[in-house]
Amino acid sequence: MADKERGNVEVVIAGAGPAGLVMALTLARYGIEVLVAEKRPRVSTLSRALVVSTRSMEILRSWGLADAVRAGAADVVPRGWVTPALASGEGREFPLGYPTSEEAARVSPAAPAWVPQDHLEPMLLARLREAASVEVRFGSRLVGVEQDAGGVRAILHDEDGGRARTLRALYVVGADGAHSTVREQLGIGLDGSPVRGGYYGVQFRAPLAAFLDGRRYGLNVITDPAASGILTPRGPGDRWHYGREHRPGQVPLVDRTTEQLTELIAAAAGVRGLRPRIESVSEFGFAAQVAERFRAGRGFLVGDAAHQMTPRGGTGMNTAIHDGYDLGWKLAWVLRGWAGDGLLHSYEAERRPVALHNVERSADPNGARCTPEEALPWDLNGRLAHHWLTRNGLTVSTLDLLGDGITVLSDPGRADPHEPPAIPRVHAPVTTHVLPPEIARALGVPPGGARVLRPDGRDLRPGGRDLPREATEATETV
Ligand SMILES: Cc1cc2nc3c(=O)[nH]c(=O)nc-3n(C[C@H](O)[C@H](O)[C@H](O)COP(=O)(O)OP(=O)(O)OC[C@H]3O[C@@H](n4cnc5c(N)ncnc54)[C@H](O)[C@@H]3O)c2cc1C
Repeated sequence: MADKERGNVEVVIAGAGPAGLVMALTLARYGIEVLVAEKRPRVSTLSRALVVSTRSMEILRSWGLADAVRAGAADVVPRGWVTPALASGEGREFPLGYPTSEEAARVSPAAPAWVPQDHLEPMLLARLREAASVEVRFGSRLVGVEQDAGGVRAILHDEDGGRARTLRALYVVGADGAHSTVREQLGIGLDGSPVRGGYYGVQFRAPLAAFLDGRRYGLNVITDPAASGILTPRGPGDRWHYGREHRPGQVPLVDRTTEQLTELIAAAAGVRGLRPRIESVSEFGFAAQVAERFRAGRGFLVGDAAHQMTPRGGTGMNTAIHDGYDLGWKLAWVLRGWAGDGLLHSYEAERRPVALHNVERSADPNGARCTPEEALPWDLNGRLAHHWLTRNGLTVSTLDLLGDGITVLSDPGRADPHEPPAIPRVHAPVTTHVLPPEIARALGVPPGGARVLRPDGRDLRPGGRDLPREATEATETV
């Protein structure tokens, strides 16, 4: 029996960034006992990543969090705008891979949101605080991991008094970012280029919306040589971010005076006499790397601990969210005895190709420019297609039919459409929905057959990788 007071939990997660918080929220749905150890005293106040993708919004929507996310969103088109200066009125639009709300509505019940991490993380944390089986411990740094056949021992240091405690768990997850201690403790190396550059960002407030004249873009690429860089809104109101990659010969933004930064931002905005209120100036190095492995025994890596991307394409945080969700439900199924360890192998098999793709895209100088048609398949990653249908008098998405166990979507012409198929060696609870014929056709449900789905909307069978062979055969003959 898990018992946090005695130093036992089922899963210990290092890091309360987007990957760790989403993973803990996913595990909490199954009542898994989790301790999230976060070395900082509180969640970060830096805006950092600014776009929540279509698939990330689908996951958050399924948890009833879509409105809370949107409350912190800037009212912009998720596209880029190349312009000499924000208020110049001249420029050209380019795609960033994110669909507009209208484009997203064709494939999803959700749409991307231009939301900063300093809105998203406190919101995820607040939801997590409601989960009885999860504790988030701030000021607690994971410093060591040992494992044996039966479990792991995580050594945690309290940041205030330096007291060390040992926690026994069945699994340890490194959601501890680019400089992951868990990755180092598991002896997992990185493939790719360590540091590709430095990036400087200034968080400020200024009433810039008044100068946009209806051109509300998520990303404004400023080309005026005196102020070249990126201007982005970071939420509603007057919250903005100015950032640029460091070039040799330039004075780093962190070394500039407030007056110099004020002039730079006024030039980028194209508004003489603008007096922005500067909140912070930060620097971060970015890399394009992927961990050699995402798992070593009972240890796993998610998010930036498993892969680091440059900000190009805005995929770092979204890939982290999807990792946390993917490993979350898989670990929960195994811990609940619903599936065997084989399911956990599918985590790396399914997530590493996406990470490699997004890392490569971010390393390409033109990687930010991408059509939604090109980017969406990597974001949605093979989940069930979205269609609206009526259930119990309500209009719902086909994605809303998915539960935390197995979901069977039956063709109405099946011999006994309500009877779940036999799925040997997988003991997850099964919910069966009999579909209207036109929706069954649209979803590719075989006539007289059914589709057997995982919580993430993927078929419970591809290549037999995620399930024992017998189960694969059983589901394919449904
Ligand atoms: C300054 C900055 C600006 C960024 N800007 C952008 C951007 O513009 N666009 C973009 O797409 N991405 C950006 N990123 C990257 C983006 O923030 C990450 O991709 C995203 O946060 C990944 O989430 P994560 O949960 O994997 O890791 P993180 O958000 O890094 O979270 C890891 C957490 O683990 C904690 N931690 C670390 N070590 C330990 C330990 N030993 N024990 C306990 N806790 C530990 C850290 O304190 C942190 O809270 C930026 C990152 C930074 C740092």
